[in-house]
Amino acid sequence: MFENVTVAPPDPIFNIFSSYLKDESATKVNVGIGAYRTDEGKPWVLPVVRKVENMIVNSPDLDHEYLPLDGLKSFTDASAKLILGTNSPVILEKRYCAVQSISGTGAVRLGADFLKRFHDKTVYLPNPTWANHQSIFEDAGFTEILEYPYYNPKTKGLDINNLCDNLKAMKENSIVLFHACAHNPTGVDPKEEEWTQIAKIMKEKKLFPFFDCAYQGFASGSLDKDAWSVRHFVEQGFELLVAQSYSKNFGLYSERCGCLTVACQTPAKAEAVRTQLCKINRTVISTPPAFGARIVSKVLNDPELYKEWVSSLKEMAGRIKLMRRMLFDELINLGTPGNWNHIIDQIGMFTYTGLTKEQCLLIRDKFHVYMTESGRVSMAGLNTKNVKYFANSIDQVVR
Ligand code: PMP
Repeated sequence: MFENVTVAPPDPIFNIFSSYLKDESATKVNVGIGAYRTDEGKPWVLPVVRKVENMIVNSPDLDHEYLPLDGLKSFTDASAKLILGTNSPVILEKRYCAVQSISGTGAVRLGADFLKRFHDKTVYLPNPTWANHQSIFEDAGFTEILEYPYYNPKTKGLDINNLCDNLKAMKENSIVLFHACAHNPTGVDPKEEEWTQIAKIMKEKKLFPFFDCAYQGFASGSLDKDAWSVRHFVEQGFELLVAQSYSKNFGLYSERCGCLTVACQTPAKAEAVRTQLCKINRTVISTPPAFGARIVSKVLNDPELYKEWVSSLKEMAGRIKLMRRMLFDELINLGTPGNWNHIIDQIGMFTYTGLTKEQCLLIRDKFHVYMTESGRVSMAGLNTKNVKYFANSIDQVVR
């Protein structure tokens, strides 16, 4: 039965994490996995999450009944408003649907499964992108998965001219995947005027946008600013898909809490899309898990709890920005060869350092610093105690 089964290659990111755990060095640094850590290097349960968790667990009404196929309505409605904006024409005219998913990964997969059924066209992914994107679209059955230029290694910034030229050359109706903010792995986002330029070409060429939004509020500390790209496309009249994750901005990594929001032309179409998404959920997960959605729903629907959440979001985004500044300053003080401006220019959880694969392997072997071989560094793994050590390690491997 299993004669043809061979061992699958390990997942690059989770593999680095397990090597890190096995390492017994006292100075080891984990900048591989994209999970927030405090200045003490510990995971953080947001105080508002802890508070709401207790409220839910101690509620006499708590039960463990199935949720509907599309999830907890107070959660999905609030999720659509969070990303599109409460006053979005799509919300006011009720021409959207929002369906709960197994976190951001599940939302991308749900979107891919839906598009495969109803819009089986070429999909374009940014180069580079989150490694899972390619696999998700492959597993959903897409046969033409192409890439478009995104990052310019020379400037360590956006390759806007090539990106636009490529959009212009795409086949009509192609699906183009964008990271709504805090692009993973590069930390490089289009500026507002660049998004405007991109949307204009997308409209002329009748291209279909699919946004992956895993870091709303986490990137800049502002929920509205981080949703600007999606909202701009909506204002320009696009129908679109947006996959939302609450892993990072609520710290709910293991609760697998996410949502797929779809902006449509009419309420009737939105309802048709919703039922099709329910049908997909039914065969893949039947119904989504409740706990994370209950937490997020309570927070998003209560102005006081919401305020507490926003202040924690700002704290996380602020700590990461501080780490960027400290790392940059250390490298400048050391006179490390090269230009390091991108460390403070890039945003969100990751910095694309520009280190080569060889340097990344060397830094692991010699200094017990764990990062992906692409040179991506999760800034949340740095803190006031290890940033100097980390900067020194970089300094040594680039000299
Ligand atoms: N998309 C991108 C771009 C991401 O970086 C991530 C998190 N690494 C996700 C989606 C999904 O994460 P999760 O499934 O944990 O919500």
